[in-house]
Amino acid sequence: MTTTTAPAAPSVPFAGFGSEAALDLDVGSPRVAAQVMARLLSADFEDWSNAVARVGSCTNPIHLTGSSTRVDAGTGEVLSSYSSDTEPLGTTLIRCGNRRASECPSCSRVYAADMFHLIRAGVAGGKGVPERVGENPLVFATVTAPSFGHVHGMRDNGRRCRPHAETPRCEHDRPTTCHQKHDDGDELLGQPLCWECYDYASHIVWQWWAPELWRRFNIALKRALAHLLGVTESQLKDLACVQYSKVAEYQRRGLIHFHALVRLDGPKTDDAFAPAPDGVTAEPLAEVVEEAVASVRFTAPPVFNGDVPRVLAFGAQVDSRPVRVGHRTDDPDGPLNAEQVAGYLAKYSTKSATDTTTGNVSNPHLSRIQEVAAEFATLVEDEWVAAEMPCDLKEVPYGLLGRWHTALGFRGHFSTKSRRYSVTLGALRRARRRAQVLIADAQRSGIPVDLASMEAQLLADDEDETTLVVGSWSFAGVGWDTEGDVALARAAAARAREYAQHRAEAKRANQQ
Ligand SMILES: [Zn+2]
Ligand SMILES: [Zn+2]
Ligand SMILES: [Zn+2]
Repeated sequence: MTTTTAPAAPSVPFAGFGSEAALDLDVGSPRVAAQVMARLLSADFEDWSNAVARVGSCTNPIHLTGSSTRVDAGTGEVLSSYSSDTEPLGTTLIRCGNRRASECPSCSRVYAADMFHLIRAGVAGGKGVPERVGENPLVFATVTAPSFGHVHGMRDNGRRCRPHAETPRCEHDRPTTCHQKHDDGDELLGQPLCWECYDYASHIVWQWWAPELWRRFNIALKRALAHLLGVTESQLKDLACVQYSKVAEYQRRGLIHFHALVRLDGPKTDDAFAPAPDGVTAEPLAEVVEEAVASVRFTAPPVFNGDVPRVLAFGAQVDSRPVRVGHRTDDPDGPLNAEQVAGYLAKYSTKSATDTTTGNVSNPHLSRIQEVAAEFATLVEDEWVAAEMPCDLKEVPYGLLGRWHTALGFRGHFSTKSRRYSVTLGALRRARRRAQVLIADAQRSGIPVDLASMEAQLLADDEDETTLVVGSWSFAGVGWDTEGDVALARAAAARAREYAQHRAEAKRANQQ
């Protein structure tokens, strides 16, 4: 690992994607290596690699067979027809669309790119959102969970983990201090100093109700804003509304954080994104957000008979910072710009619970959270069966905990936004599908198409009513044939990512 930023000598091919560079293959076992060899030497390798390229090196594509025809609804004229028979492998492949980078690196990148555009549009405009939205006050807030026990962590300015404690050892005779300075890859990070002292029950209960705490934060924020503007809560809607985009991210200790962009718009109107009330800037908005976070309380019911109710709140650490559009800053304490916040949020949105561990190393703390959550779920179900309750299990407060134990008890969405934050993921996906049809038409006809000038049309909400698609399709399976094929698809996705990074760096270097 080198830390130098000097550019590589021109004669050295860029690692990872140059014509001379080897594919970065992770074959794992001799069996998979043999599968990779067999694929590389197979007669239809060309067809196979074309098929992989067409789904952008998705690791788990869906296979369909069938055909469809595009028909002009007015005249009945057949505009084009398509059949899976024409595909290299005889089936039509569709991307799996998985958000998680650990499941499908390629689809996760598409998801992250869509998230980036969606978030950026709400900060600075674009994708059908007017640029004036960038003038409305905007805050980037990170809302944390409270502590349920001391865990090993990285401290600012290279300070030691936990050098001081009231007593040197806990009641389980484990040390209560840690004098290490942990590095990023350290397996101890996020692990409790004593797993018996750590309050797993409260940890799970907090995580379970985190979406409820967020809901209450929204209510508290409106109340605090009304106060700031000197109006009643019911008058607030005539003056202003709050729009947000948020993502949930797991920390190493297995608790989620919310990262949110909170924007103050004027009153809700049909064309949305109205200017904020005069005189309100991002600074007071940031203060109001912190105040609202600190005020949230929720009394969680006991999990099982004999358990206790718990008063839940967010953690004391709230980071709420103004975002200024158009500012370029590398000062970590300075205001953030649109690209930075969109980049952060898009990155967080592709992580899953198990990604918080490095690689596939088993993580005792996260395993324990899952075990305790599963135990609780069993208790809840047993009590529900024994009590012969007249309601469905899902109406019991913790009835569905069993379903979410692998997500460490978090049942919320990983990325959500208010309705008028910006464009929707659905609109971005629809625009991509429409653009693909236009590009295919342009390739067939040889007439170039200017997609940039057609953005508004591509993003438009109306379905194209002049053409009908008539087709019949059936499911023919999912995934690639062997683990070797999956390894090759992953390697191709990794190369595509490295190449995209290289292009982005080259573009940045050119601009400087
Ligand atoms: Zn995929
Ligand atoms: Zn430590
Ligand atoms: Zn202890």
